Order: sequence, then structure tokens, then C-alpha cells
Amino acid sequence: MPQLPLHHVFHPAHADHYAATLGEGLDHLLRHLKGVTGPATGLAPAAAEQRVAEVDLDRPLADAGQVLEEMSRLWLDDAVWFHEPSYAAHLNCPVVVPALLAELFVAAVNSSLDTFDQSVGGTFIERRLVEWTAQRIGFGADADGVFTSGGSQSNLQGLLLARGRHERVPAERLRILASAESHFSVQKSARLLGLGEEAVVSVPTDARHRLDPAALERSLAACTDLGLRPMAIVATAGTTDFGAIDPLDQVADLAVAYDAWLHVDAAYGGGLLVSPTRRDRLRGIERADSVTIDFHKTFFQPVSSSAIVVRDRATLGPATWHADYLNPRDATNPNQVDKSLQTTRRFDALKLWVTLRTMGPDLVGRYVDAVVDLATAVHAARHEAPDLAFAAEPELSTLVFRYVPAGPALDEARSAALNTAIREDLYASGRAMVAATKVDGVQHLKLTLLNPMATVEDITGVLDLVRESGARLVSSFAPSLEAAR
Ligand SMILES: *Cc1c(COP(=O)(O)O)cnc(C)c1O
Repeated sequence: MPQLPLHHVFHPAHADHYAATLGEGLDHLLRHLKGVTGPATGLAPAAAEQRVAEVDLDRPLADAGQVLEEMSRLWLDDAVWFHEPSYAAHLNCPVVVPALLAELFVAAVNSSLDTFDQSVGGTFIERRLVEWTAQRIGFGADADGVFTSGGSQSNLQGLLLARGRHERVPAERLRILASAESHFSVQKSARLLGLGEEAVVSVPTDARHRLDPAALERSLAACTDLGLRPMAIVATAGTTDFGAIDPLDQVADLAVAYDAWLHVDAAYGGGLLVSPTRRDRLRGIERADSVTIDFHKTFFQPVSSSAIVVRDRATLGPATWHADYLNPRDATNPNQVDKSLQTTRRFDALKLWVTLRTMGPDLVGRYVDAVVDLATAVHAARHEAPDLAFAAEPELSTLVFRYVPAGPALDEARSAALNTAIREDLYASGRAMVAATKVDGVQHLKLTLLNPMATVEDITGVLDLVRESGARLVSSFAPSLEAAR
């Protein structure tokens, strides 16, 4: 019988093979990284799809070198690079090296953080980080929480816990109040919890895109007048588009007055917890019942790394299920699975741990400050540009604007088409990447700045590429063309 080739298994007997493979991989990655000249190559979806479709998955390649080469052709050669200063699209950060060092161990050891007997020290590392985060939030000794796959899952769990307080109230009577600019995962969570689309009451925002407390109070009163139960208020600390931070203290007062669960979605703004200069912007977050923090945004961690932190561990009950084989009711060993929506779960906490033990929290916070300062400086440098219309002053590290050509004003449909074309043009050129969003139904472009190495010149450069592209493309959208046809 032919021998089973076992050298692929991570095992001391195969340490040389492992070292050689990883060495080859690291060389390949670094060679590639050094050759990157822009955030993207502009590959179109059809071409990307075609290359992947052509692979015969039933016929493996001869060696790691061939596999790496193929992987490059299918993905790496045309990947989007978040460390490139002209990448300014979504909430993606360049990652820090200490986290990558940790990632090597996370994958190789493959601890699973559901129970002590699958992770040992890992359970306590995660718990210390939850405690540390809770302390930064300003929670007391009863706080607890767990790492999650991301802000969406953290928000879902926060709302699940809120739902758990009203088991006897029929779903159709429960309401979640959130600002009109809150993250879409709030709506999605309501759907997953079986609450229905009308369960989320959208509360208007003020001129700075923050939840308006007076409007919130009216919505709460209207709910109770109608015999509905406002089960949760979601305040956002750093909205995805504008980085706006809802007035947490005022919202907390209303949550108390109406006995509603207060969930603070700090997926984006959470990095302010370590900012040496801007921590005060999160004042009131300590009054939340639950908080979402995405370490894979403003703590410069690789995906995934997120947490839900609660003020009182007793409220975590609705996430608990006792399985005889894993965490029976009479289990004595510590476990994290009681607090989690997941079972098998990566030791993502190790990345943040190694980051904090290497850099310390202040340095992470100074990176956060750097990107906030950058947004402010870029706005100052370009807000008077006649062909750029900014929708707001920056609150955190985003800039929302439209390209507005000189000459006769474009109607909204043409302006939207022009701005969309600019975004596509930049991607196709491979020179810069920007995002898009709508403000009150009007198409805008957005820069999200999370790269502490990007300079003001880099980002004004991106804005100038937008302007150049707009000037070049505008003739195809000008009304005169339409009239001439
Ligand atoms: C990014 C974001 C989320 C979702 O987080 P994921 O980690 O992408 O699931 C939720 N809320 C806000 C405000 C966000 O910016």
C-alpha cells in the first residue's frame, strides 16, 4: 500500500518543511509588497472571475512555489492594498506588524476560545483584554464581554441581549431606536431577531449628522403612546459615513428614563479609547449597557478582531446555551462559549495582546490621532476648492464631498453619474481608491482615512486626482451635449 504523505500536517517531525514553506511564503509576500506601486490595478470583475473559474480544483499543483505563483495571478497581483496612502475608500486599515506576528501563532496553534480545555492561557488573555477594554470604557467590576467576528456580530449580540429582557413581549411590539445614520447591521439584526423591518425607528440627525436627542425623546414618547416597547436605543460613536458621535450622555439619560437598553456602536470611534488627546469625545460611553468595538478598524488589527463589552455580565444570559459535551450546566472550568454566538472561535485576541505588549496603548492612540488630524488638515487645505463641495467638516477621519464642475450646474442625475464615473475612473487607473455614499439622497464621494503614514500631500493628491478626472469626464455629462443630440 502506498504510504500516506503526512508532511503537510503541522508537527515537530515536519518542522523543516513548515519553515521552508513559510520562508518561501514570506519571501514571496515581501517581494510582492516591495513591488506595489498603487492601491489597486483596476482589474474588472469579469476578468477576475474568469481567472478563478479556469482553475481545476481537482488537480493540485506540484509545489508551494507553483501555488504561490497561481495565487498571485488570481488575487495578489491585483489585490487592493490598504497601506497605500492613496487607498482612501472603506474602513480598512493598514495592519501593524506585531499583530501579524501573533497571526502566525493564532493559525498554527489553532486554539479555540470556546472552552478552557481548548485554549488554557488563551481564555485568560481574551478575558484580560475584555477587562482592559471595559476599563477604558469606564465600566466597573461587573463588566464582561467576548471577542466577535466584527461589528455586525457585536451589534447583533447587543440587540439580542436587549431582546432577552422582554421575552414575554411579542416581537411586533418591540422597537429599536437608532439614528438615521446608524450602521445597516442594526436593521439586519432586527430582521435576524425576528422583529421585522418596522422594528427599527429611524431617528433624525442634526446638522452634524449626530442623533438629535429631542427627536429621540419624541420617538420614545410616540412609541409608548402607541403601546410599543422601546427595547433598545443604539447610539453610534463614529458613524460609518461622517464619523459623527451621537451625544452619548443625553442619549443615556433618555435610555434610563424609558428603561431602554443602551447599545453604543463604537465600531469606528472605538479607537478614541486610546487616543491621548480625544478620549473625551466618547464621554458617556460608560453609561451604555453594551458596546461594540472593532479592533480591525481603529486599532489597526487584521480582520477579524472585534468585541462586544457589557456593563453587567449578568445580562449576557441570552447568548448562553448549555451543551452536554462542551459546557454542561455543572461545568467548573472557565469558558467563553457561554458569552458567544459562535462555538469554535479563533484566538483573535492574541493579535491585540501582542500589539499592546509591543506598542503600548498610547502609540496605537497616536496613530488614531494621526488619521483624525490628517482629515482635518486635508479639509483645511481643500475646502475652498471651487470644484469640490464638502458635505461636512470631518469629525473623525472621513471626508464626504462631491465634484462640482465649473460652468452650468448639473442636475442631480448628471452630477451623480459624473461622481460615480470619477470613482470608477480612479479605480481603473489604479492610482487611488475612494468610496461613494449618498447624503440625503444626493450622490457623494467619500475618503476614509485610516493610514497613519499617509501625508496631507498624499490625500490632497487624491482629491486633485478626483478633480482632474472630473474635469476630463465632465463633457460626457454636460447638459449641452444632451441638447445637441
Ligand atoms: C464597520 C461598522 C460596523 C460593522 O462592522 P463589521 O466589522 O464590518 O461587521 C458597524 N457599525 C459601524 C458604525 C461601522 O462603521
